[in-house]
Amino acid sequence: MKIAASEAELKREIRAAQAAGKSIGFVPTMGALHRGHGALLEAARAENDFVVLSVYVNPTQFGPNEDFAKYPRAFAADCQLAEAAGADLVFHPTNEVIYPPGYSTFIEVAGVSEPLCGRFRPGHFRGVATVVHRLFQLVEPTRAYFGKKDIQQCLVLKRMTADLGLGLELRLCETIREGDGLALSSRNQYLSAAEREKAPLLYKALQEVAFAFAGGERDVAKLESIGRARIETSGDFRLQYLEVLGYPELNRTENAAAESVCAVAAYLGSTRLIDNILLR
Ligand code: AMP
Repeated sequence: MKIAASEAELKREIRAAQAAGKSIGFVPTMGALHRGHGALLEAARAENDFVVLSVYVNPTQFGPNEDFAKYPRAFAADCQLAEAAGADLVFHPTNEVIYPPGYSTFIEVAGVSEPLCGRFRPGHFRGVATVVHRLFQLVEPTRAYFGKKDIQQCLVLKRMTADLGLGLELRLCETIREGDGLALSSRNQYLSAAEREKAPLLYKALQEVAFAFAGGERDVAKLESIGRARIETSGDFRLQYLEVLGYPELNRTENAAAESVCAVAAYLGSTRLIDNILLR
């Protein structure tokens, strides 16, 4: 497995893969890798000849009071996991490679980036779309792999890829969870032992909403109150949102569409957790 930090090192590997007629599978991450990232790498490995992982903590997707400075960084361990999962190349760029001096161009995806996290993290999806577009230009993937854990991010990037005609396939992979249901996340490291015990409640609340939906409940207000009540009565979380929206448009309706998503964001102590469940 090779490691590239500069654009020249990266492009040398990409050009060699292209010259050999290889398809390129790409998994963009912010590092501190876990089994969720591993599953994306395995999916990329299964359908491509050359697999690229990027590890880059993107400053433009963090708000001024968010955790950019303390975001976990574990590059040596990341390389081990990447190699075990079958990556051919790890791209670990500096800020100057992604945002050269004077960089001033940003991508705004209207609509799907506005509800949910868009309301609570202004500028977040602008940063995500911009960095992923930059990474796509650099890596020139045939297919790119994203986790449904970040469902709104998936939908923003699908919109961007279609609108700009980027000519690559996006693959959305299932959320990998701990045995107790907690979605794997690099941010789970922030949880204290007591918080870690409480964290699975978020997914339990989503499952209760899914259970009611499967039982025929379509009243969005009722579905949302089932999920919110579960989280609020625990007293442990500070809920930002729990919403049932149409999938994949993320539109609000009174009656849940045949395909909907229930998405939640809540603070547990100082850690912000998100999760979602598809209702269909
Ligand atoms: P991150 O490093 O958190 O920016 O995530 C990089 C990619 O891994 C994104 O596409 C995430 O959606 C995906 N991902 C993160 N956690 C999980 C998980 N538990 N299961 C599946 N994919 C995940």
